[in-house]
Order: sequence, then C-alpha cells, then structure tokens
Amino acid sequence: MFGWFGKVSFVPFSKVSAFAAHLKDGRLMGSRCKACGFTTFPPRADCPACMSDAFEFHEYSGRGRLYTHTRIDAAPGGFEDLGAYTIAVVDLEEGGRLLAWLGDTLPPASISIDMPVQVVPRLFEERSDIRVHYTVEKPGTTWHKAPQSA
Ligand SMILES: [Zn+2]
Repeated sequence: MFGWFGKVSFVPFSKVSAFAAHLKDGRLMGSRCKACGFTTFPPRADCPACMSDAFEFHEYSGRGRLYTHTRIDAAPGGFEDLGAYTIAVVDLEEGGRLLAWLGDTLPPASISIDMPVQVVPRLFEERSDIRVHYTVEKPGTTWHKAPQSA
C-alpha cells in the first residue's frame, strides 16, 4: 500500500498501513488507543499517553480551531508559482494538530486565532500514487475531492 506514496517501503509490515487506503477514500483518519482512549492524528500504532500497542482507526470530523497561521511571501522551491499564500495549524476537535493550506472559503483577512474551522482533505485522483493535502475552510464546508487536472 505504501507504493501509492511513490516510494518503496523497506518495512515489511506496518500496523498503520490501512491509513493509505483511508487516504485513497478521502477520509480524515486518526487512531484511538483501545486501552486509554487517547486519540491521535495522524494515526499512531503505539499510544503516546500509555504506550499500549492496541489501537483502532477513528474517523475525524475535520472540525477544529485555528491554532496559528502564517503568510508565506518567499515561497520555497517548487512553490514559487503559487505566490503569497497562507498556511495554518489546526487543533483538531478529536485530538492532534494538522498543518494545512488556507482554503478558498476563508480569506486571510477573515481569520483569527482560536476561531472554529473545518479541515477538508483534497485528493488528486488523476494520480496513481497518493497525493493529498488539506485545506482549512469555514465551519460547515462539505468535503469534496480535488478536481482532476485538465
Ligand atoms: Zn493509551
């Protein structure tokens, strides 16, 4: 399954390999510890709270609060054509933090720390490997997959 990421995995077995299948389905999937209930995103097989290795996948709502954000004026290599853009860190309602682009429904001037937001996965289905990124949108934004490129 990790071949979908365009890389060869030299790890013969991974307890979280189903994460790749969930990404393909456009799901925002974290994990929940079966021993203590601690949730993480991205999913972790071993609980950082109690060290148990018993976990289950747990689908996240994508709801959260804006933890911080920054405007990128000098884009790094590979992103020069995007011009200035804003990235944000979201504290997810179910636990964990996520780094994402600011989406079209939230103009940069409208955002403020701790405001409620919705994280939306964007999946590029025209590729055989997995390319997914997340955008931060206004609450209530429904999930949809990234449009196919022409
Ligand atoms: Zn635990």
